[in-house]
Amino acid sequence: MSALIINGKAFAASVREKVAEHVARLKNEHGITPGLAVVLVGEDPASQVYVRSKGKQTVEVGMNSYAHKLDASTSEDALLGLIEKLNNDPVVHGILVQLPLPKHLDEDLVINSIDPAKDVDGFHISNVGLLGTGQKSMVPCTPLGSLMLLRDHHRSLSGMDAVVIGRSNIVGKPMAQLLLGDSCTVTITHSRTKDLPDLVRRADIVIAAVGRPEMVLGDWIKPGATVIDVGINRIDKPEGGTRLVGDVDFESCAAVAGAITPVPGGVGPMTIACLLANTVTACCRANGLEEPDGLSA
Ligand code: NDP
Repeated sequence: MSALIINGKAFAASVREKVAEHVARLKNEHGITPGLAVVLVGEDPASQVYVRSKGKQTVEVGMNSYAHKLDASTSEDALLGLIEKLNNDPVVHGILVQLPLPKHLDEDLVINSIDPAKDVDGFHISNVGLLGTGQKSMVPCTPLGSLMLLRDHHRSLSGMDAVVIGRSNIVGKPMAQLLLGDSCTVTITHSRTKDLPDLVRRADIVIAAVGRPEMVLGDWIKPGATVIDVGINRIDKPEGGTRLVGDVDFESCAAVAGAITPVPGGVGPMTIACLLANTVTACCRANGLEEPDGLSA
């Protein structure tokens, strides 16, 4: 194995530390405590784990956490009513509605009812438009975390060839916009892309956000390239039980790449760290205060 392993777990801890320092400053100098409201509808077990973890980490960095757990049968009107209340609540600086929502709720309508300034997931159509036009916005957490890891490793990404595998609204597309913003030459690929391995072989930076376990193979990777594996897939172990793998075949890619993120311990921990970073950024913007350095795009 030749690649440097990018330690997302350690980097996420340093992001949380920076957030905690800024939260302490906001409290001490301005009497403001940033607050994050998380709304969970229904009992999806994975969502419950995420929401618990988000609440715990929010409190650990000194912010206020407001959890709203609603019944799976909650009506759209009731959910929109809660969001309106949170939009108007001055102690709430960030609002996150945990996805996926139960089928009877219109996800786009719900997300677009969040005040864009409090949209710490960065999914509101206004934030999508602001990011696409290179303006200050709330940036989706997973792509933001991936960008932070890349910037930390490379310092400048200018002029690099990047291939993003996946075109989802939550990862692939915003990731491509961020890389473009850092002056990469960006290719976005998807399930209909022809000759994907050939395209990936030209890339200095590969972002895998596909949702297919270990799809990207070592012989697709240009020697020395940086590989960011966004994928989180649970697969069966031959001896029984399960394990987490990414969208990248780690062993074969690490033998060729210059640097690579592992799964777990790569991009995953950055996502919640960036949620906390976005909340402190939203709080500073809401109060006309200076934003912390290095915690936004
Ligand atoms: P989506 O399912 O929304 O999107 C997957 C994308 O991959 C689609 O654009 C799809 O193309 C493309 N794709 C599927 N098969 C192929 C193929 N054979 N070749 C090329 N492209 C293909 O997934 P997400 O973007 O939400 O998530 C991607 C991965 O990232 C998942 O493993 C998910 O678990 C993980 N994830 C991790 C997070 C973290 O915190 N680390 C956060 C969010 C996601 P098409 O559009 O044509 O269908």
